[in-house]
Amino acid sequence: MASDTLTSPVIAGTATRPNIYHNFIDGQWVESTTGQTFENRNPADTRDLIGIFQRSGKSDVDAAVAAARRAFLKWRLIPAPRRAEIIFRAADMLAERKEDYARDMTREMGKILKETRGDVQEAVDTAFYMAGEGRRLFGPTTPSELPNKFAMAVRQPLGVCAMITPWNFPMAIPSWKLLPALVCGNTCVIKPAQDTPLSTFNLVRVLVDAGIPRGVVNIVTGFGAEAGAPLLEHPEVRAVSFTGSTSVGRTIGTTAAKSFKHCSLELGGKNPMIVLDDANLDLAVEGALWGAFGTTGQRCTATSRIIVEKGVYRAFLDRLVERARKLRVGNGLDETSDVGPAINERQLESDLEYVRAGQNEGARLECGGCRLEKGDYHWGWFMEPTIFSDVDRKMRIAREEIFGPVVAVIRSENFDEAVTIANDIEYGLSSSIYTRDVNRAFVAMRDLYAGITYINAPTIGAEVHLPFGGVKATGNGHREGGIGAIDFYTEWKSVYVDYSDRLQRAQIDRPE
Ligand code: NAD
Repeated sequence: MASDTLTSPVIAGTATRPNIYHNFIDGQWVESTTGQTFENRNPADTRDLIGIFQRSGKSDVDAAVAAARRAFLKWRLIPAPRRAEIIFRAADMLAERKEDYARDMTREMGKILKETRGDVQEAVDTAFYMAGEGRRLFGPTTPSELPNKFAMAVRQPLGVCAMITPWNFPMAIPSWKLLPALVCGNTCVIKPAQDTPLSTFNLVRVLVDAGIPRGVVNIVTGFGAEAGAPLLEHPEVRAVSFTGSTSVGRTIGTTAAKSFKHCSLELGGKNPMIVLDDANLDLAVEGALWGAFGTTGQRCTATSRIIVEKGVYRAFLDRLVERARKLRVGNGLDETSDVGPAINERQLESDLEYVRAGQNEGARLECGGCRLEKGDYHWGWFMEPTIFSDVDRKMRIAREEIFGPVVAVIRSENFDEAVTIANDIEYGLSSSIYTRDVNRAFVAMRDLYAGITYINAPTIGAEVHLPFGGVKATGNGHREGGIGAIDFYTEWKSVYVDYSDRLQRAQIDRPE
């Protein structure tokens, strides 16, 4: 176990000095060789310095990959059910530490406690699910076309896997990547988002405490160009799993292709919710509020376009605006807050820029649109939940991912037009429809071109045992969650055993 050789994960701070967090490489908690660090601050109150993290570079990445490479030689040979026992223990420990880790996450990421508890719970669920996979990892056994010959396919691990993750689900997304990779027998180097390193650090810490052997999991914190790029380019890395923006994903995919690395990309979204005339309007309004403003709209699956059939357009909009005005924006640590801050100043500026773009292009601002700066808001990146109506599908606010609490309401003539508008977009992650008409629900399930479709629920709320991912510019065809993750982190090997004691030539020696 690595814990025999552990150095300190964190140098505890004092009233005047913040905590200093270390990288985890080859079973040791270590400083970056660059000698540089960066600050992690609370987006709800930037006076709150959460900690100092290592600003890693290529030599840290090289050390982490070398450790993972060495560890792979042993880890791949440990029976999968034994590997899974460590994941199972980690699940129990995560559940015990849920409240502490949720509070850490709200402090560094901003989303409200209810949601950060959910984020940690998602890692718990993934850990239990993937621990179960340790006794499955099924492959086919199948009849051979020749007599006295046995045929099967087995899953083999890939080797060193690199994970590069975003800030909006800073424990759940790393868990979707690390846990299936580990149970399949791979070793890992993870580079979390620079805005939220602590939650990923907490996940790695749990794995270490659960007994993960030295070098099997490594965390290198830092920035994309300095730590992410050398990880992605490293010749010993066999697979890269990336979740983040479509623009960075394009670079990741292109770079990985040059050295034939397996590459899974989970990218942006611009997710539609359709509300038909026959919908339960109260339910649709409730769902729209949660889908659009949950996580301050900073979800890849956020409901960012609501396409409403003309018969209920006004009634739906009036109710939605009335409810949105009552949402309480505030620090996520306050249990009465509904909506937290933007992750950082750049994201807030971008959200406000989209508000200006919507106004300039002629959409009608129904509510919100402003930064909140007075009183308690002064030290954070807060804005009002914002709704635009009379949005034309060609406007920027109807086409581009905003990743903030801004939703575009679009009127449609009928069901067919609503589906056409929903699909008329470069992304295809999540989608939803509110209707009581079972026939239309099934047509929507077939015709909405997206990786996920919800009936009578908003575009958010994925469960860990089903495939998660999208079509078009949202990804490159892989899926996280469920069996899709196992498929990504293994390679098939077909095995034939000929017990006939003679040469039998496939396709040539055909038994009569
Ligand atoms: P981002 O693309 O800016 O960063 C993601 C990660 O990539 C970070 O760790 C960053 O440091 C790293 N990175 C940046 N440039 C890099 C480079 N050149 N080489 C290697 N690594 C690099 O995204 P973000 O702002 O952290 O997250 C928001 C985006 O993530 C949104 O577009 C959102 O839709 C998307 N997202 C998608 C999903 C999904 O499953 N489809 C889930 C969550 C978030």
